[in-house]
Order: sequence, then C-alpha cells, then structure tokens
Amino acid sequence: MENKQVCDYCGSEDVLVMRWINPNTEEIDSMQAGTEGLVNWCKNCKEVATLIEKPENLFMLISGYWKDDKVEFENYMVYAYDGVIEEDDSIFYYGLSEDKIKEAISLGIETDLEFVITKYQTVK
Ligand SMILES: [Zn+2]
Repeated sequence: MENKQVCDYCGSEDVLVMRWINPNTEEIDSMQAGTEGLVNWCKNCKEVATLIEKPENLFMLISGYWKDDKVEFENYMVYAYDGVIEEDDSIFYYGLSEDKIKEAISLGIETDLEFVITKYQTVK
C-alpha cells in the first residue's frame, strides 16, 4: 500500500495536487502541473504546501552537538511537524521528520541546522 501524502507543516491529509487534464477525454495525466513546490496545496494551512509521505513516527530523540561551541546534547525530543498550535516545553525542535533527521545525519556538519545530529531513536 502506498503511504499517504501529508502537509509537511501541519501533517494534514487534506491536501491537493495540481494536475493536467486532457480536455477531450477528461483523463487526468500522471504528469504534475507546474514546477514542484508551487503545485501542492494544504486545505488546513490554506497555503501552498510541501507534501511528504506520512511519517510513521512523530516523536524522536536526537543526540549530537552544537555547531558553534561543540557542546554535546543527548536525547532531545523533536517533533515531525512544524505547525503546532500549542508549543510544548519538553520539545526541543519542531519540523524534524525521521527523513529529515536521516538526511541531517548523513550531511553531518554540512547541515543547515545549528546543530549536528549524530544519532536518533524513535519514541513509542
Ligand atoms: Zn498544512
């Protein structure tokens, strides 16, 4: 089964993708209209959205160190989506999905984040 596509900001499944339609047959073509990033819409955010595969795990614990002073941290809680209405003090960072964490680990010091992630674990 194919994973559901969700908004990477709020996690909503109520999302739209722009498509081309053949006016003669009304068949929907598999080709996406426009360029990536400009064609997806989240009905919850009411904004252009980036869609991701629905993550299996929403909470993860990351370990690593800060880029500037190299101070290490361990098992900081992060949450997959950015768009959280009520912030929680126990959460260190929002908008880090498991895929983004894996990417950050593979980039190491090259990551755009202010910290380097060396390992993570999922929270059940
Ligand atoms: Zn959204």
